[in-house]
Amino acid sequence: RAKESGRNTFLHFAPDMAGGAVEDLKIASRLRLAIAQNELQLHFQPQIGLRSGRITGAEALLRWQHPEWGLVAPARFIPIAERSGLITVIGDLVMQQACQAARAWRAQGLGELVVAVNVSPLQFQRGNLEAVVSAALNSAGLPTSALELELTESSLLADAQHLSAALQRLSSTGVHITIDDFGTGYSNLGYLRRFAVDRLKIDQSFVRRMCANPHDEGLVRAIIEMAHCLDLQVVAEGVEDAATRARLAEFGCEFGQGFHWSPALPMDAFVAFVRAHPAQGLQTH
Ligand code: C2E
Ligand code: MG
Ligand code: MG
Ligand code: MG
Repeated sequence: RAKESGRNTFLHFAPDMAGGAVEDLKIASRLRLAIAQNELQLHFQPQIGLRSGRITGAEALLRWQHPEWGLVAPARFIPIAERSGLITVIGDLVMQQACQAARAWRAQGLGELVVAVNVSPLQFQRGNLEAVVSAALNSAGLPTSALELELTESSLLADAQHLSAALQRLSSTGVHITIDDFGTGYSNLGYLRRFAVDRLKIDQSFVRRMCANPHDEGLVRAIIEMAHCLDLQVVAEGVEDAATRARLAEFGCEFGQGFHWSPALPMDAFVAFVRAHPAQGLQTH
């Protein structure tokens, strides 16, 4: 059995579910029921301020616990949900659940933690993301600064005009906007200046290798320096050891996330993790 959390988390499908068109169809047709039966749950991975060592928030990561298949990885079902259009329903659900979680953390005195939510380009294209965001914040009674939206570089390429206006409005309300998986797409930092982005999240493939590979380390350092020139903060994901954390801190990277601290945890375990963490609370950015 796979462990509750950590790497190798996901029970892999029985051989007949290993991938391919037929399996995709099975997943697609089962997803609706998964939503109805509450099989989709958010887990939370702590984010740490590298200067203060404090927990500043968490990324909400979706988990699908299927009664027979076990845990289905988001990399497996999110793309299918995007193709079927179901991602908009799932996305609304995630926004609601994430804001409720952030509300609960504050109510429990864990500090002003920020919850980061992954947003699919389709949610922007549908045109009501701003309404979904403000409804979720309002029903949780949360300030806009408690929410961070993560978009991948590729979502900036589609319908740039429309997106740029929507990001501008969201950002001006105080919601944090972050570019996820930075370095894997084709956008450059100059292009990003057109968008109301607050943070870059360096893709874990560079971060994980940086201590072993001088080219990756150089790339990470260059991204951090360029981001700072544009007044962007930097989050490094995929931090797996103390040496990487130390290098990132030396380069001035603001935030870290990765197995070095913790994998994504179920709600209760996340709360326990924050309580046990030596320096809990807010790093003011
Ligand atoms: P992502 O947003 O880039 O999330 C980071 C992924 O890296 C997560 O995988 C996380 O568990 C993993 N990770 C974190 N720290 C480490 C580390 O130190 N080492 C390694 N090797 N991996 C680490 P996960 O949870 O499997 O999510 C995969 C992707 O699925 C996410 O990538 C995101 O693109 C997508 N996703 C997850 N939840 C949602 C959601 O609610 N909505 C949308 N639209 N996409 C989601
Ligand atoms: Mg993300
Ligand atoms: Mg802003
Ligand atoms: Mg990422």
